[in-house]
Amino acid sequence: MSEIKLKKVIVYGLGAMGRPMARNLKDHGLLIGVKNRTEGKALAIRNELGLPEFEDDEEMFSQADCVLTCVAADDDLKAVVNDFIDYLKPGSVVIDCSTVSPNTARTLADDLASKGISFMDAPVSGGVEGAKKGSLSIMVGADREQYKRASDVFAAIGSQITHMGRVGQGQSTKAVNQVMVAGVAQAVCTALAFAENCNLDMKKTIEVLSAGAAGNWFLDNRGMTMVNDEFKVGFKLNLLLKDLKICQSTAAEMDASLPLVNDSIEDYAQLIEMEHSDEDISALIRLKRMLFSPEGGASDE
Ligand code: NAP
Repeated sequence: MSEIKLKKVIVYGLGAMGRPMARNLKDHGLLIGVKNRTEGKALAIRNELGLPEFEDDEEMFSQADCVLTCVAADDDLKAVVNDFIDYLKPGSVVIDCSTVSPNTARTLADDLASKGISFMDAPVSGGVEGAKKGSLSIMVGADREQYKRASDVFAAIGSQITHMGRVGQGQSTKAVNQVMVAGVAQAVCTALAFAENCNLDMKKTIEVLSAGAAGNWFLDNRGMTMVNDEFKVGFKLNLLLKDLKICQSTAAEMDASLPLVNDSIEDYAQLIEMEHSDEDISALIRLKRMLFSPEGGASDE
């Protein structure tokens, strides 16, 4: 039983990440259906991918052996799991690719286990670009046998798939990732605002620094866009703020407080107040520029 691979997947949550994941699962012959709170998005993907029609949700979920969820936050995930928990067959598996707290993952695993359904937390890194290419990095918290059953599903959406340990440990790894992402953004945005005010040629600066010890993905991929005031790319800062609050509460459970996380939460909350909520996390440079001139922007002197 435990060796039977998962082959009939429903994707629940067709946002920026869920849509390309659904397409990749369809390409691998693993997708039987999709579901989304805003039904129009599900209809569009159903038509695009030529998915079968079901009488209702009960019929659709009862035919699946796996539901892959990818929704915004903890409460949203709890709401969608409630939507289908009574329809899934015992022996089926929920794979959650949202970023939520390790505690939410463990609570849901317990709720689903009482119905004979397995749960694994499988948060991802690699952004919308990675989701489209099917090259996500996936951090999995799961029972080992269930993890093996999901290998085809993970191979369809990701290229670096790592079993981190029991349920919750995928989300713990993702929280570590987000602390690092926030720190890199702080360092690069501060440094580039400084460079602008040193009146350096920004293209040359980014090229030479990328090749040395300070080089990193964020500088390579977001350096020139932020210098050019393009913030409509990549990872929305309101999602990083949500993730950093998870990092903050996870650290608090250890009686720790992480200044990097707390400062980043303040910064991103300020950017949201300034109505930049839908911008990429590199919009942080807006605040760093204000350290040099209160109006923001580099000086010409
Ligand atoms: P998104 O584009 O904002 O999509 C969010 C999805 O969640 C939509 O399908 C939305 O449904 C659904 N949703 C939100 N609240 C809901 C509720 N109360 N009940 C039911 N459904 C609800 O977000 P995304 O970029 O796809 O991100 C999804 C998850 O992946 C998040 O946890 C995010 O942190 C994580 N992630 C994102 C990235 C990235 O680069 N975007 C990278 C790594 C991880 P509607 O269509 O009805 O609004």
